[in-house]
Amino acid sequence: MSDNHQVLFRKYRPQFFRDVIYQDLAVGSLQNAFKSKKIGHAYIFIGPRGVGKTTIARILAKRLNCENPDGVEPCNACTSCLEITKGNSNDVFEIDAASNSGVDNIRELRENVKFNAMGGKYRVYILDEVHMLSGAAFNALLKTLEEPPAHVVFILATTEYHKIPETILSRCQDFHFRKVPVTVLQNYIETLCAKEGLKYDSEGLFWIAKKGDGSVRDTLSFMEQAVIFTDGNLTGAKLRKMIGYHGIDTFTDFLNQLIDTTQSAQIFETLENLFQAGIDLGKFIWDFIEFLNSLLLIKDNLADRESINIPQEDLQKLKQNYRELDREILVLLAERIFSIHEKLNLMKLRSSYEMKVYLEIQFRKLILDREKPSVSGLLAKISELTKLVQGDISLIPDSVDTVPKQVQAPSSSPKPTIPKTDEQTIPAQEKVLESKKQESQAFQKESASLPKTNQPIQNNNPSEDMEKLLKEKFSGMEVDPNQFKNL
Ligand SMILES: [Zn+2]
Repeated sequence: MSDNHQVLFRKYRPQFFRDVIYQDLAVGSLQNAFKSKKIGHAYIFIGPRGVGKTTIARILAKRLNCENPDGVEPCNACTSCLEITKGNSNDVFEIDAASNSGVDNIRELRENVKFNAMGGKYRVYILDEVHMLSGAAFNALLKTLEEPPAHVVFILATTEYHKIPETILSRCQDFHFRKVPVTVLQNYIETLCAKEGLKYDSEGLFWIAKKGDGSVRDTLSFMEQAVIFTDGNLTGAKLRKMIGYHGIDTFTDFLNQLIDTTQSAQIFETLENLFQAGIDLGKFIWDFIEFLNSLLLIKDNLADRESINIPQEDLQKLKQNYRELDREILVLLAERIFSIHEKLNLMKLRSSYEMKVYLEIQFRKLILDREKPSVSGLLAKISELTKLVQGDISLIPDSVDTVPKQVQAPSSSPKPTIPKTDEQTIPAQEKVLESKKQESQAFQKESASLPKTNQPIQNNNPSEDMEKLLKEKFSGMEVDPNQFKNL
């Protein structure tokens, strides 16, 4: 790296209000203050880290002391502006409240504010992380804020609004800064790629922006690392490798292996392969849970939300591929795997091998549970069949026993069909129900034409006995009553 190398964040730090991205609200209000010549003596900038609070505080300081301001903007060319850019202005003081949090620091500051500005018009005090001040320090600061000398401007910056005493807040004009959305960050770094001559693809920029988590500073710091890691070629494939993300193909394969009983064995192969490749299995499981959650959000048409961890192109693909997949199955799966992950965290296993063994056992159990009929599934099935039978009986005054042999009661005909659980056939449960309805209707027609006898209807409800029997049979078995309803 050459001596002239500047980290991206510093290199592209905005020097004008107009260059700041996304903080229109705060920037607009400050610009209006200059237009109407109503400069306050104390501002508080509130918002998450890395979104431009200190940057804007510096631009504000520059504009206040600029010798040749251009409307609301500083000139960035006069001595005062240049000194502030370099950080050696005698009139602008940046104080990190985290490391100067004591009352003595603030007392010193109070002594200091009495002096007039050296070169410019204002003495500007930028107090970063101001919530870190001690109670006594806040009190000392309050005294200055109550009667500020005319040539002094305070700019307090904080990420934690709720820690600032009300008395301080009431003395300041507050400006709220927001997290920068992924798409805005993505567009911004795309312009930087053009300036820096970097190669990229849309997915690559998505992961960089995502990693920044709403912070311009963090985005650019990560981009810096990514440029080195990918040798200046910011593609999705390289970025995924860098952040240890597997891409949706790995997750869709894994999901298919979990829901399709014919693919179960491959689950263990996948775990083994990940283990052999040195992948952090705990992280893989977490990412998979996130993937399942994203699928649910897609199903609820909420996939546009900011926090989703899937690039736009993949979102469309998933929307299409999993349109038919039963939402309930996804919820149950996500819940089960979430608890596996939770236990995994609690156990504090010593090695990745132990982690793999644990996961293999847990997934084997999950597969077994999936294949085992659940009590609620059985009961629901019985009650469903009973309704069919009862519906039929009500049309016939005879008991089921008297139905002539050639007419088969549907209670024996629709054997519980186990629907195949691949993505196409899962919603077939509805079809099964539909076909049963038709069978029942056909049966009703047939039975309606039967000769009627005068035997009384049996009062016994066969399903109640059966339900009781099954409950007894299954009591004590550890079966999740809501697991896959594959009966
Ligand atoms: Zn200037």
